[in-house]
Amino acid sequence: MKKIIILTGAGISAESGLNTFRDADGLWEGYNIEDVATPEAWKRNPELVQQFYNDRRKSVMAAQPNPAHLALAKLEQKFDTLIITQNIDDLHERAGSKAVMHLHGEIIYSRSSRNPALLYRMNSHEIKIGETCELGSQLRPHVVWFGEAVPMITKAMYEMPKADIVILVGSSLAVYPAAGLLELARPDVPVYVVDPKIPSVNLPNPIIKIQEKASVAVPLLVDKLLENE
Ligand code: NAD
Repeated sequence: MKKIIILTGAGISAESGLNTFRDADGLWEGYNIEDVATPEAWKRNPELVQQFYNDRRKSVMAAQPNPAHLALAKLEQKFDTLIITQNIDDLHERAGSKAVMHLHGEIIYSRSSRNPALLYRMNSHEIKIGETCELGSQLRPHVVWFGEAVPMITKAMYEMPKADIVILVGSSLAVYPAAGLLELARPDVPVYVVDPKIPSVNLPNPIIKIQEKASVAVPLLVDKLLENE
């Protein structure tokens, strides 16, 4: 069975109503990332950070997978499939994908701010200030903030050279170390890039650029790959 690795970014969830943050104004839902998505912001103003992620979580819980998420789940019929996503939403899982690696965490979990191994699946969208883990420390969103380590990157780096086909969907490739993963694909492996604004990709690989929205292009690409297999 061939191995296919799909790298996804905020763009794949745009048509599910979840905004990306580099498209229009460089802001994320009207906020500077320094004010809401860094450890410094959390120290300075935990109420604002918590409110920001509570709002994002509310939107994620209300959103539905779109045809691109649903199509990617079908790849598992014929391929050893791994999705490596920068997204913190759970739309790949809700679309039926079994192997999903979240580089930047998962917003539907809260986490102890003392012991990062203590995770709690959330039923409501809100983490309150004063809400604590079993060790008595404040709960925070289970996301990777800018400037924090990316614990899953080592596993992702280990998987990349095993791919026979790579697909990149909806990422500006502006956030490292995620953006560097493409360089770990074997140089003979085809790399499909789906994005209405194709990011600059400098690789020796055959690059197939599909300048189109994910919900249109991904189902067609998946059908083609399944037919040829
Ligand atoms: P980005 O916002 O930097 O870039 C989004 C990319 O998606 C752009 O290249 C844009 O042209 C493309 N795009 C827009 N609409 C599209 C569509 N309909 N189909 C296909 N592509 C489309 O996103 P990034 O590179 O993922 O970096 C953003 C960071 O912010 C990530 O680290 C992520 O953790 C976080 N983030 C996550 C979410 C989410 O979980 N849904 C949303 C916003 C931001």
